[in-house]
Amino acid sequence: MSDLHIVYISVGSNIGDKLANCQKGIQALNETGHSKILAQSRFYATEPVDFEDQDWFINAMVKLETSDDPFQLLDQIELIERTAGRKIDPVRFGPRILDLDIILYNDRIINSERLVIPHPRMHKRRFVLKPICDINPGIIHPVLKKEMRFLLECLGNDNQKVLEYR
Ligand code: ADP
Ligand code: MG
Repeated sequence: MSDLHIVYISVGSNIGDKLANCQKGIQALNETGHSKILAQSRFYATEPVDFEDQDWFINAMVKLETSDDPFQLLDQIELIERTAGRKIDPVRFGPRILDLDIILYNDRIINSERLVIPHPRMHKRRFVLKPICDINPGIIHPVLKKEMRFLLECLGNDNQKVLEYR
């Protein structure tokens, strides 16, 4: 692989065997032939935030090295989601077998119709910030110019429940 990029991908599931769905998604990311997993967070049980009338999620974060450009990587994760059995979502932010979101891609800032990086809601989501801090709390948000540990502290005592999953 030439020209490698460092990427953080958020992994989530709230249908079926959620832990197994996340683990299979992570394995699939490692088997595209273009990417390699470098680190992985703990798993968390998390309360749904945007659309609250649905089951809790299992979430995790992975750090990847990839030769894909951001749009090739998005194609890959959409293929993995579909292979996991994900259908067109009837409800935005609703239940899903597998959700893979690109949180960071090097220090790149992308604002296209298909792809926004850094992920536009990451700094407000405990289920993203808590697991990324497992891997490296010192990563700097390329737009906000703040460390992940600081963004997590900024959430204060809001009531997004994120519990370590044993
Ligand atoms: P969400 O994860 O926000 O609940 P979806 O998984 O249904 O939403 O994704 C909807 C669309 O979001 C995708 O078709 C994709 O084109 C777009 N998208 C924009 N930015 C990103 C990103 N950083 N990572 C993944 N998908 C993204
Ligand atoms: Mg998504």
